[in-house]
Amino acid sequence: MKKLVIAHLYPREMNIYGDLGNVITLKKRLEWRGYGVEVRPVEIGEPFDFGEVDLVFGGGGQDSGQLIMGEDLISRGNDLRQMAFDGVPMLVICGTYQLFGRGFTTLEGQEIPGIDVFRASTIGGRTRMIGNVVIDSPFGELVGFENHSGQTILEPGQAALGEVRKGHGNNPKSRQEGAVSENAIGTYLHGPVLPKNPGLADHLLLAAVRRRWQVTELEPLDDRRELAAARVAAGRPR
Ligand code: GLN
Repeated sequence: MKKLVIAHLYPREMNIYGDLGNVITLKKRLEWRGYGVEVRPVEIGEPFDFGEVDLVFGGGGQDSGQLIMGEDLISRGNDLRQMAFDGVPMLVICGTYQLFGRGFTTLEGQEIPGIDVFRASTIGGRTRMIGNVVIDSPFGELVGFENHSGQTILEPGQAALGEVRKGHGNNPKSRQEGAVSENAIGTYLHGPVLPKNPGLADHLLLAAVRRRWQVTELEPLDDRRELAAARVAAGRPR
């Protein structure tokens, strides 16, 4: 059986608003297609060999969680930057997304350096951006939930994941949401984002099986329930 390896970054420190559901979605959508999956946690202070990793996931977290894992993430920054450059699919949510950029400066002025996968900087603000979000993206309409104080600014040339139709996204003004570099995707969309956005999940999975086995397509799944849930979510008031 073909088996893929998913690296789950700091599952204890960076898992709020149900973001673990993204790992469950990736795992099930691979298993439903006959692939084996191994999820390996990346833990603070523990050695980790990224050499066998096919996909990287990191969830959202409070400022305190980011302060705890930030230094360890920096120690793995060279590996993760090279993997992103090499096209390894990655999905990082909110707090981890912020630290995949230049860094996050909290409202209290604490600077948490990032690993520069994205050319983006984040500054904590007094106003929390909370609510349902709908964006238009190359993977179709994406729906989710946001809850962050950080306002992220993309540098010129840094691609966004999509354009905000409802909600805030990266910040209240730019109408941009998330960031994409090669197959690395950062987003503020919690929910968790993948169960209701199967097109985004399968984009990540196809990139992984293509890199590993030159597979060019995934067997279609019956996503009627997932897409119905996305329609309901898209119709919810902010
Ligand atoms: N602590 C960060 C912020 O408030 C990230 C929050 C999150 O991951 N939901 O912006």
